[in-house]
Amino acid sequence: MSTVSDNPNVKSIKHMAFAVRDAQAALSSYAKYLHVPADTKIIDYPKSRNRVALFNLGGIEYQLCQSMDADGRFASWIKQRNAEGLHHICYEVDNIEQALDHAKSQGAELRICKACGVYGSHPHPEGHVAFLDNDAGGIEIEFMQVYTPEELKKYEEFQGI
Ligand SMILES: [Zn+2]
Repeated sequence: MSTVSDNPNVKSIKHMAFAVRDAQAALSSYAKYLHVPADTKIIDYPKSRNRVALFNLGGIEYQLCQSMDADGRFASWIKQRNAEGLHHICYEVDNIEQALDHAKSQGAELRICKACGVYGSHPHPEGHVAFLDNDAGGIEIEFMQVYTPEELKKYEEFQGI
């Protein structure tokens, strides 16, 4: 593996999120062709109004995301393109502020988190996340600085989980 050209701040792909019309139907294709467990749970997220099938494949977390509303984040994306597809890749970074500073120094701008109404780094269940308003090859870029066990505990206490 090359170490010279890699972004030193990106540790791995945290997840890939696909915009799908029907999470159950999309999951059944992954179950048929790629041996993903057919009984993978489909989770409803009331805050973001998304229905998501989440599983690991090839060492990467996949999220098949269906909007629960016709004008939702993933539904409107599908409508615009008239196609399902890879909506965004979430990169796990060592330091989200550094990742954003670097991207901004290259002319990037921030995109609002539609679930939270926030621009830039802000807390999500697994870590601090931020979205760029600049796609790469048509794919939205998300950064996540995953919580340390201590940070996760604090977040969950704060949320009353
Ligand atoms: Zn958010």
